[in-house]
Amino acid sequence: MDCGCTNCTCDEKEIITSSCPECGSTGNLIPEKAVKANLNKEFYSSIDNKDIYLCPDENCKTSYYSKDYSLKFDLSDLKRPLWYKINSDPVIACYCNNITEEQVVDAVKKHDLKTWQDIVLHYQEKTLCICKKLNPSGECCTDFFYSIINKTLLTLDREPVSIPGGCTC
Ligand SMILES: [Zn+2]
Repeated sequence: MDCGCTNCTCDEKEIITSSCPECGSTGNLIPEKAVKANLNKEFYSSIDNKDIYLCPDENCKTSYYSKDYSLKFDLSDLKRPLWYKINSDPVIACYCNNITEEQVVDAVKKHDLKTWQDIVLHYQEKTLCICKKLNPSGECCTDFFYSIINKTLLTLDREPVSIPGGCTC
């Protein structure tokens, strides 16, 4: 089952975790491509041959870190804000297509759009889905993207849409 996006490159993966050196939260191992797409270039050489994890805690200022804790990156070491961290500005809903939460809300409210594809195509020429490489977590934005759509529909007193399931990028 695909995640509703075109050209999906999703497949099954094993989840490997390590706790954050700053807050102790359990973070997942992130594909190197995703780390490099989001970390500032000056740090590329430091992550060679290291397993890099991502802190999932919204209040923690750490983004990526290595299992041996020799590397610990702040939010400011990234090219774009991490969507789930507190005070993220802008909040990015889809990293592959550069769509912000605000744009999703606008598309639902002003243009009556309710799917990932329709909303992306409202702002971009075509849809891209390479979350494994471009999303900071290496995972698909589908759940978060649809949670914004449904939160917005709720404020309009309208029925939520169902979230396309099964994506495990
Ligand atoms: Zn943390």
